[in-house]
Amino acid sequence: MEKIENILRQEIFIDEESHKYYLKGVEINRPSVSTIMQYLPQYVFDDSFAETQEGKEILVNAITRGLHLHKIAEVWLKDRQERTCCNLYGHLEMKRWLLKILQKITNDYNEEDGWEIISELSMVGERYVGTLDILLINNKRKQYLIGDIKTTRHPDLQKETLQLTLYKHLLEERFKQININDMKLNNYFVINCNKINKEVYFMSENIQKIAEKHTLEIFEILNLRNKNL
Ligand SMILES: [Zn+2]
Repeated sequence: MEKIENILRQEIFIDEESHKYYLKGVEINRPSVSTIMQYLPQYVFDDSFAETQEGKEILVNAITRGLHLHKIAEVWLKDRQERTCCNLYGHLEMKRWLLKILQKITNDYNEEDGWEIISELSMVGERYVGTLDILLINNKRKQYLIGDIKTTRHPDLQKETLQLTLYKHLLEERFKQININDMKLNNYFVINCNKINKEVYFMSENIQKIAEKHTLEIFEILNLRNKNL
């Protein structure tokens, strides 16, 4: 059987430098998941703290940490290669923990049981685009889990779940296009890797329900905007 990963990736390309999405070679200009999340006021990213020098440094460090750890996960999931990290404070320790968790995931969701682990999957939907961090998918069991890597002290699980729910809807669109049927979401998870908070979170039914409600609100706004174009 052909790997689902190959089918999912067909005809979609993202340029890592410019973050532009291409479908069959044509550039797509649709908003991203992180953009449409902010259609709801409670999820607008407040970067006003970065107006001070100290705040700016905190923001730059946070972005660097996020980029480094995402790259480490991506490279490891793709080729089981351990990427070296910089000498920035705490990165080595965070990297070790992250790789330990990824190793555990590949043991728990293993190939013999039909699992595929896909990292950095870009998707182009009718209305928006997005790239998820980790997809665990099993075509025999008809199950999948969507995971995200975060590097914050206190992850906002409701916000995380909204983001992951928006990926789920993109993925469902994609499943339809490529005739993969009856896939069921098992759960969402967040691997949070920070100096003072390292934890893997799975989402409660209640958090998921609220996220679905917020997703529908975002879709209404998207539809209104598209109508007014
Ligand atoms: Zn680093």
